[in-house]
Amino acid sequence: MTCSDWGGRLVPYPEDLAARYRANGVWSDKPLGARLHQTARQFPDRPAVITTEGSTTFAELDRRTDQIAAGFLALGLRRRDPVIFQSTNRLETVLAWYGCLKAGLIPVATLAAHRMHEIGHISRKVGAVAHIAEAGLPSFDLVAFAHEHAHDHPTMRHIITIGSPRADTTITQLEELGLDLSPEVARATVEQIESEIDSCDVAVFQLSGGTTGVPKVIPRIHAEYWDNARLYAERLGWDEQSRVAHLGPIVHNAGITAALHAAHSVGACLVLATPEASSAMELITRTKVTAVIFGQSLYRALSKPEFSLDRTSLKRVILSGAKVSPELFEHADAGDARWAGQLFGMGEGLFVVTPLDAPAKARQTTVGTPISSDDEVRILEPGTENDLPDGSVGELCCRGPYTIRGYFDAAEHNRAAFTSDGFYRTGDLAAFTTIDGERYLSIEGRIKDLINRGGEKINAEELELLLLDHPGIANAAVVAMPDPRLGEKTCAYLVAEGQPLSLNDIQNHLEKLGVAKFKWPERLEWVDAFPRTNVGKTDKKRLRNEIAEKLSAETDTRRAVV
Ligand code: AMP
Repeated sequence: MTCSDWGGRLVPYPEDLAARYRANGVWSDKPLGARLHQTARQFPDRPAVITTEGSTTFAELDRRTDQIAAGFLALGLRRRDPVIFQSTNRLETVLAWYGCLKAGLIPVATLAAHRMHEIGHISRKVGAVAHIAEAGLPSFDLVAFAHEHAHDHPTMRHIITIGSPRADTTITQLEELGLDLSPEVARATVEQIESEIDSCDVAVFQLSGGTTGVPKVIPRIHAEYWDNARLYAERLGWDEQSRVAHLGPIVHNAGITAALHAAHSVGACLVLATPEASSAMELITRTKVTAVIFGQSLYRALSKPEFSLDRTSLKRVILSGAKVSPELFEHADAGDARWAGQLFGMGEGLFVVTPLDAPAKARQTTVGTPISSDDEVRILEPGTENDLPDGSVGELCCRGPYTIRGYFDAAEHNRAAFTSDGFYRTGDLAAFTTIDGERYLSIEGRIKDLINRGGEKINAEELELLLLDHPGIANAAVVAMPDPRLGEKTCAYLVAEGQPLSLNDIQNHLEKLGVAKFKWPERLEWVDAFPRTNVGKTDKKRLRNEIAEKLSAETDTRRAVV
């Protein structure tokens, strides 16, 4: 099958490997929208999505998203047009997502929390043509933002809202798209588009959290993206009776792959909650959810009384994002009644997941094994292509049927991000360990310079450059500081040009630059100079240790005062 390489901006899979993945059934010729339709034909009356506001069956979801797809095309959108997403966890986001896929449009997995700095860069990089913006959010007017962003944008032509921003008849609202089309006409339109889609063409643009400089764009293709999710669902033994809850942003790769597509690949129901712990638990309990992922930002909440997992129908609890303590594991796992395991995954591809039959020690101390037998994982001595033996900690590098071969339009960056034979350098530190005769992977830290704030990645270099844009800052080094709720938050070590600025000044500066709020530093440390390593680089390890010790001493002092 021939495929456009987007003018050299898309790195294709080598043909021999692609042929192998197809032969092994881990790649499909069907586009993503057709996979949903296939499930809907199999389980028409089963629930597909439940939210606090309502629910839909697979048949309804399939019919409505056909209409939305046809509605997008009637607006003038065309196959391969990228579409920026800024919406929260609600049913309409799922409708918009599948509507785009079925029209052959390419969802760009941006977040509602992103602002001009992020959206402006990404939308130009991919040549976005439409912007889906949720109306009525209490903290920020995304629709006004979408209009501001579209101004002078070379390719942006459509703003589509979820919800109605105001009595404005010129606005295109997702809820109204395609309502005038009969289901038969909408289906025929979708099938026509699908017949034109190459399975090795881009289906979705995800965003990378773990690279240097500005965020990189991850091109996921039709052939592999749904099967990545299916392999995950199968690893966890899900079927059409399963109900799978998700609390984090649904458009994030973890939400799409480990929740939406995974559930729908096997006919299971997605219970779409929000990160607000108590309302999520109420929904999980009421709708008899059987499986849930808890990201690291929920690890602490999990130990609170309102998170009593014993009152739920949960059979599988998947922990993801950070090391799992013995106490957390014990709380999540309940022998035969409830199984706890782990997921290590990334937008770039590789998923490593606990096998169902793994012994408790492997389930608590490791993230399991790759989900496809075609996944290839190597532990390399950092900065080299030398393999390390089992038991040694090194950089986790991977290649396989659903791991990208290159970021989109990033030839120079790709040279450093991949080995000479196409293994993706994850920037994570890992080791293979053997438990009861089986080989499992454990995550042992990272070498990439980022802060993982409750699952949202903050790129240190990107933030430092933004800080240095302020005339009052001569030098900047940002590091992770431990946070009991989110795991990590950002501390900025700064050298002043003149008088030190307040945290407020810094946050105002970043707001003016249009930087998403989750990236703003939450603590400043003003110093005369940074400590240096023996090769003359800023010694970030020392800064991280210093701030961790300082925070711990401050907590001790507060406790002593109380
Ligand atoms: P993202 O692409 O935003 O999903 O982020 C992927 C990155 O999150 C990985 O490269 C890791 O750095 C981190 N990550 C994901 N899962 C885990 C886990 N179970 N333990 C530790 N880090 C994780």
